[in-house]
Amino acid sequence: MPQYKIAIVGAGPAGYFTAQALQNSQSDGLSFSIDMFERLPTMWGLVRSGVAPDHPKIKTVAKVFEKVASEPNFRLFGNVEIGKDIDIEELCARYDAVVMCTGSAIGKKLGIPGEDLPGSLSAAQFVPWYNGHPDFASLDVPLDGTTAVVIGAGNVAMDCARILAIDPSELDSTDTATAALQALHTSSIRKVYIAGRRGPEHAAFTAPELRDLPKLEHTDVVISKEEVEAAHIRAEAAGEIEKHLASNLEAWRLIAEHPHSGHDREMEFHFLAAPKEFKGDGRVEEVVFGINEIKDGKVVDTGETYSIQANLVISAIGYEAAHINGIYFHNGKIDNEEGRVLGTNIYTVGWAKRGPSGVIGTNKSDASDVVKLLISDLPEQARPDCDITAFIPAGIQIVDQASWTKINAAEVAAGEALGKPRLKETSIEKLLEMGK
Ligand code: NAP
Repeated sequence: MPQYKIAIVGAGPAGYFTAQALQNSQSDGLSFSIDMFERLPTMWGLVRSGVAPDHPKIKTVAKVFEKVASEPNFRLFGNVEIGKDIDIEELCARYDAVVMCTGSAIGKKLGIPGEDLPGSLSAAQFVPWYNGHPDFASLDVPLDGTTAVVIGAGNVAMDCARILAIDPSELDSTDTATAALQALHTSSIRKVYIAGRRGPEHAAFTAPELRDLPKLEHTDVVISKEEVEAAHIRAEAAGEIEKHLASNLEAWRLIAEHPHSGHDREMEFHFLAAPKEFKGDGRVEEVVFGINEIKDGKVVDTGETYSIQANLVISAIGYEAAHINGIYFHNGKIDNEEGRVLGTNIYTVGWAKRGPSGVIGTNKSDASDVVKLLISDLPEQARPDCDITAFIPAGIQIVDQASWTKINAAEVAAGEALGKPRLKETSIEKLLEMGK
């Protein structure tokens, strides 16, 4: 029976669901040995460094990942960067298929004046900062002003705004990075605006996230009843209201009608607000918005503007894939057709394949679809066995599954003592030490 060798690059949800789909496809005539490569010494991708710390339930999917990793046909090569420590060409020559599950790590830019001023951050920096991603441990997040602005009307913008707007004591029992939590405790920010360039009826927030807002214990959430009513009227005029939109409109109504408790912390939604410019002397001091309106169902610029004084602005307007040597990218994604990188034995799953959309679970069906294509492309003969460790440069400390298990257990134990699910280590050096 041929045993095909598959390399998975990236230990995030797309990577683990790809491994799971391969494991589930094994039969009498087909088996796989799976090698997963990850640049960091820590695993689980966005489940560790993306999902908001106050949403711990979503992270329980990590149990599924660890089950996949415990199968005998799975090997982990953490702290090994493909495209740097090993070339893509090297992997393609030694594995029957290579599946790129490398996500979208770069925040999209607005392309407006002042975007590069200190105090202007991307969600692609802010989110991994509060989640303890080693690359962002020393990010400078100015929390000394009273007001912050978050740009974008998607769930990432919502996460950013919520983390800034809630009382940090609500994060004490979570796995928020220690340095970020300390910084949030000293934050002067009391007012957080979330700005969407279209109407509430067009927002990409999902209903469960909206429905959670009135439950915030120490934060008033503000949207005007008139704005919600206008959105409803426009949505009805545009045609039949689909289920998810009806659900969002109802959630907006509940937020608008929820009595305010007079907390000094507020999160306020602004719609039809298109960012035009960030102004300031050496740092962000003012965010200028163009006022949009909806005419005949189309969003148009009225030519009028208004400003919000703020020292922190976070753009949460989508992501694109980071470059990897040896891979061709197009429109912020790996150039692919339904997950196949044509003319190669490379495949791709997840945000690297389809762009930054969908929830963690979306990657399960995505992986299953791509693995079906991969299997249909397999040659009759599997490649000869080869020990890939021989191709990893000497001096690199490989974080294998046993080593990652040690790191994971040490973080969980350190967290337990403090009443947290884990205490994240953000230094690569220390993580590698913990894995020994
Ligand atoms: P998203 O849902 O695509 O939202 C992006 C937002 O950015 C949209 O409101 C978009 O507005 C806005 N935008 C884009 N370009 C803009 C510009 N130039 N100026 C102003 N606004 C601009 O993306 P995301 O929030 O990054 O989320 C990515 C995926 O992760 C989504 O599928 C999301 O649901 C998922 N996610 C889920 C959870 C959860 O389940 N709790 C948490 C986080 C993320 P337009 O619509 O006008 O383009």
